[in-house]
Amino acid sequence: MSFLGSLFGKEVIRTRFAPSPTGLFHIGNVRTALFNFLFSKKTGGTFILRIEDTDTERYKPEYEEDIIETLKWLGLTWDEGPFKQSERLALYAGYLNQLLENGDAFYCFHSKEFLEREHEKQIQDKEIPAHNCEFKKVPLRDSEKRVSKESALVRFRMPVDLEISFTDLIRGKINFNSGALGGDFSLAKTDGPDKFLPLYNFAVVIDDFDMKISHVIRGEDHISNTPKQILVGQALGLPMPKFAHLPLILGSDRAKLSKREASVSVNEYREAGYLPEALLNFIAFLGWNPGTDEEILSLKELIKKFDLNKVQKGGAVFNTEKLDWLNGCYLRKMTIDELAKKAIPFLERDNLIEKNNYNLEYIKKVLLLEQPRLKKLGEIGERLAFFFKPPKYEPELLIWRDMLFKDIVFSLNVAQDALQLDESEFTRDNLEKILLKEAERAKNKDKGRLLWPLRVALTGLKASPGPFEVLDVLGKKESLARIETAIKKLA
Ligand code: GLU
Repeated sequence: MSFLGSLFGKEVIRTRFAPSPTGLFHIGNVRTALFNFLFSKKTGGTFILRIEDTDTERYKPEYEEDIIETLKWLGLTWDEGPFKQSERLALYAGYLNQLLENGDAFYCFHSKEFLEREHEKQIQDKEIPAHNCEFKKVPLRDSEKRVSKESALVRFRMPVDLEISFTDLIRGKINFNSGALGGDFSLAKTDGPDKFLPLYNFAVVIDDFDMKISHVIRGEDHISNTPKQILVGQALGLPMPKFAHLPLILGSDRAKLSKREASVSVNEYREAGYLPEALLNFIAFLGWNPGTDEEILSLKELIKKFDLNKVQKGGAVFNTEKLDWLNGCYLRKMTIDELAKKAIPFLERDNLIEKNNYNLEYIKKVLLLEQPRLKKLGEIGERLAFFFKPPKYEPELLIWRDMLFKDIVFSLNVAQDALQLDESEFTRDNLEKILLKEAERAKNKDKGRLLWPLRVALTGLKASPGPFEVLDVLGKKESLARIETAIKKLA
């Protein structure tokens, strides 16, 4: 077998990401796109985007838009494309004719119902499902007459008992026997003499050749397609790319990633407030690692360190906690201006601020407080809403230990008095000093008697940043108003 991708002896790297727009872009897609991107960028090669849109029944334009949008958001920029298979039909037609003329392909007129019945029977009889088509015996010219009147499938004539092998760059040598590949597989659908649609295992071979793809890097689920593609390539005398099949992505229980975890569309991660750089960093480690204990790597660093030889064979475990941790690291690395810029759309979405009508300095103050703990931008609304609108809570939440309502009112009055400071003195450190001094005077020196009701009055939450920080950000006027509201709740 000769290989694509060498020019005057020097290997020219060309990879492609070839998604089918038949569903939303998910984590598995990102991993395939990313590894192809990293491998080509590392070697100064070319990364190509090809939209495999020949499944007209499942195709939706919004899925195609989703692919483009998501790749852009992630910053996985392609050098060539997007090419669309639906716009390349003339190219496939020539090769399909060649296969038909050479007898490597033939027309099949079996109905869908017939094929389904055959499949079911084979399953019932515990046979490996395969369609060894009778129509391969019909002379091409006879079939051609029929093709002008009815729809048909073009199938590849599967050789009997042929060993097919290839060396996978991740898994080493993989062997197949042609008898175990499901029989005469389909290459194209025809509907009348000139109307045809290529199918995956055919179009992919033509495109990989035509686009001079040197390396096909894709999910392990495509391993069993590879021998079919090799057969098509051989029948046409085409050089083949090298293959690298990426390990499955497993759920945290090491079982195949569940629908809930895996097919979660990338948009959902985006809406939850994961940063593209954190997501890419996380996904790069799904089946690969740099062989050191480094965990935080930018896209640039990933390009530098990526090595296809270090991709593992075994399944890669998807660990959401690790993703959250990484995202938090990226959020903490940001300057407060950068963080505010990223957070504002989420605050707008959650109706906490109005579009183009907000106090940026105030937002930055709030975010500074939460930055050390923040994991996802989408959490900001839920965790920090009280900074933007008065909290709602039941008066019982104000209770600390065995305090009665009247004790709480007393505590809140103490707080009110203590907060009668000049604006200039209303600073975090000063507030802490003054309030702690007051708190120590409480019954049994139990500081919670003053600080718990005060914090709840300000935030309406069981858990939140501490009262001094919150007071400092809310400011004197708003803080006093909230304490007053709390006292009224207790009346
Ligand atoms: N279009 C195929 C898919 O989305 C990918 C084909 C390939 O990478 O060879 O699964």
